[in-house]
This record gives sequence, structure tokens and C-alpha cells, in this order.
Amino acid sequence: MSPPPRGTEAVLLAQGNELTTGLTLDTNSHWLCGRLWEIGIDVRRIVTVPDRHEDLVAVLSEAQHLAPILISTGGLGPTRDDLTAQAVADAFGRPLALDDRALAQVEARFAAMGRPMAAVNRKQALLPQGADVLENRWGTAPGFAVDTPAGARVYCLPGVPWEMKPMIDAHVVPDVLARHAIAAPETRTVRVLGVPESVLEETVTGIELPGLEIGFRAMAPEVHVKLRFDPGVPADDRARAVDEVRRRVGWRAFGVDCGDLAEVAGAVLAARGDTLALAESCTAGRLAAWIASVPGASAYLLEGSVVYSNDAKVRTAGVDRATLDAHGAVSEPVARQLAAGIRARAGSTWGLGITGIAGPGGGTPDKPVGTVHIALSGPGVEDHRRLQLPGDRERVQRYAAAGALALLWRRLQGG
Ligand code: AMP
Ligand code: MG
Repeated sequence: MSPPPRGTEAVLLAQGNELTTGLTLDTNSHWLCGRLWEIGIDVRRIVTVPDRHEDLVAVLSEAQHLAPILISTGGLGPTRDDLTAQAVADAFGRPLALDDRALAQVEARFAAMGRPMAAVNRKQALLPQGADVLENRWGTAPGFAVDTPAGARVYCLPGVPWEMKPMIDAHVVPDVLARHAIAAPETRTVRVLGVPESVLEETVTGIELPGLEIGFRAMAPEVHVKLRFDPGVPADDRARAVDEVRRRVGWRAFGVDCGDLAEVAGAVLAARGDTLALAESCTAGRLAAWIASVPGASAYLLEGSVVYSNDAKVRTAGVDRATLDAHGAVSEPVARQLAAGIRARAGSTWGLGITGIAGPGGGTPDKPVGTVHIALSGPGVEDHRRLQLPGDRERVQRYAAAGALALLWRRLQGG
């Protein structure tokens, strides 16, 4: 038996031929599900349809009986394959009419860009009669909302994610909260690095509290543990549940409602006045780029070297030629020498070394693709891990960089 719905529900409609032909991944629905979950709305269906009028009309007509909130993304462009307004008009008996407010917004948008408005863009101001215009300050296509004969309300937004998301926050969320008696729940996000979702789920099993729902969101290389508390759960109970998740997960739970590990670890380095240098082989600067993506990273990141060849490892990070010959470039001693060598050269508090086989070629039986050695050198600290990472080249590189930063993070936590 499925649990009874807690409250207000929504149906999501993602439309566009690009979605049904595999050109574009429907990230809108994914994002919307997370956003709606945060404000206490459950998603009852996600429907993806091509740009076909009869399908849109059928889905819209049916969806209004499933949930009081319908959110459609896509199909608001100026071209003939953009059919949302027409489909809403036909599904709900509201003929299209030129909407003066929508037209003014489209015109103003073109004026602001200093471009003449093409005649086809007038189409974007043709809205179902009685529609409320949802201003689009991030692009040209205005959105709109209409009430359906069955008493639902349909919100139509452009498909472009960076237009759709701010429009949801600016127009849809406030409208939904005003129309439905949903007291917005509290959401806390515990960010975890290096624990698979399945393991995490087991780790937090048994943390129960009336009005608490725990969900997981894989955000490679992290997993987010989301705790959603119904309104009315006392603050003390909420804090205790969050603490319990952190305690059970341990040092790999690196923060709550915070930025990524580069940001969190960077803040700790800055607060301690510590500095960092990197010698990267298989990640080729990826860790340096990630760390430097945080504003203010220059306070602690001194340098990062891409030491791809053996010569570079020797010349730049002071790795022993004999060690390379005896153990190979992808080995524990080489990783350790990379970390210690770059630290000595930079005169930094910490040094990190990464060497591995990102693939798809280059693997051997005892060093298969995905073999990565990461090492840390610091005050009274020499540490190393061998990782065996699954996935393609990109994923191996991403996880190797994250693993190395996690090695540092653990020490910064005194672990
Ligand atoms: P449209 O509003 O239909 O003109 O869509 C414009 C663009 O938005 C498309 O070409 C896609 O690149 C993008 N897009 C549309 N729907 C989605 C979706 N569900 N997820 C991610 N991107 C989308
Ligand atoms: Mg489209």
C-alpha cells in the first residue's frame, strides 16, 4: 500500500521533441521535483510529450483531474512547433487572444536587448483568455497561469532552465503558497562525500520523528541527505535529527545547508591560515580548478602542477626516478612523493598528490582502469589511499579529485 498523500499534489508536464528524441535530458522535472518537495508539494505524475497538439490537449485535460497544480515547461517559443498556449486554449475552452501585458513584456525585452522584434514574436503574447501573465525577466517568452474547468491551476513556463527556475521562485511558489493551505516545511540538507546512496540509506535507518521525511539526492560525487520537517516539528527535535544524521555518517558529512567541499574545506584552510599545493597527474588540474572556483581561494591555494609525464613528476615534484622505475607512476610511493615534493617546493602547510589510470586504456590486471593513488603531506601527517573508481574517464577524474580533497578534509577535522 502506498502511503496516503500528505497534502497538495502536482502533475509535471515536460514538453518538446528534443526531450522525446533524446537530444535533451529533462532536467526541468528533476529540479522541479526537488523544489516542490521542499515546499511540501508531492508530485503525482511526470509526463513527457513531444510537440504534438493532440497529445498536449489529452494530457492537460486528464491532468486537471489528478492534481490541483499542473506545471508545464517548454513550448512557449515563437516558432510553429511551440504549441503550449494553443493546447491550453483548446483543452480548457479559453480561446487565444492577444494579451497586451504579455505583448508589452515581449516588446520591452527586445528593446532592452537593442534588437528589433520579429513578427513571429507577437505569437508569444497570444495567451488563453483570462490567463494571468507570469513575467519573464530572464528571457523573451512570458509564462502564464490559468484556472481549468476542473478547478486545477496550470502554470506554463518556458523550457529554458535558467528562465524556468527563477520564474518558479518569483511567480509559481508564492502563488501556490497563497492558494493552498500548505505551511511550508523546513528542509535541511546534510552534504556527504564518499558514501554511496545505498549505504547512506542504511546508515540513517531508524532516525524517526513524527513529521520527518528523509530523502536522498545523488549529486555526484556527493550525496545530499534531505530532511524535510513538517511545520510544527519543534526546533530542538529538528536539530537533534540533523545532529544524529551527522553523527552516524561521521566526518564524511562535511556540512549542513552549505556549499560544496571545496568551499567548506577552503573556509577552514582560510580560518587556520593554512596553505595548499597540488601535484596532479591523472586529474590534470581538475582539483586545482575546483578549489579555485571558490572566491577567495588565493588565500590558501599556492600552486597546482599538472605532472603528467614521469619527467614532470621528477622535475616538478621531486619524485625519485628509482621509485618510478620500481613501482610505476601509478603507485603509493609515487603519490606520497608527489604530495611531499610539491609541499616542499611550495612551502605550503599541506600538499596533495594524485596519480591514477583514468582510462579507458592503460589498465593492467593489477592496476585496472580506475586505480588511483591519492596522498596527503602536512605537519606531522603523511597519508595515502588507494581508490578503485568505477565509471568512465570523466567520472574517474572527478572522483579522484574529490577523494584527494576528502583526504585533506578528514585531517582538517582531526580525523
Ligand atoms: P522551449 O521553451 O520549448 O522553446 O524550450 C527551449 C529550450 O529549453 C529547449 O531547446 C531545451 O534546450 C530546453 N528545455 C526544454 N525543456 C526542457 C526540460 N524539460 N529540461 C531541460 N531543458 C529543457
Ligand atoms: Mg520547445
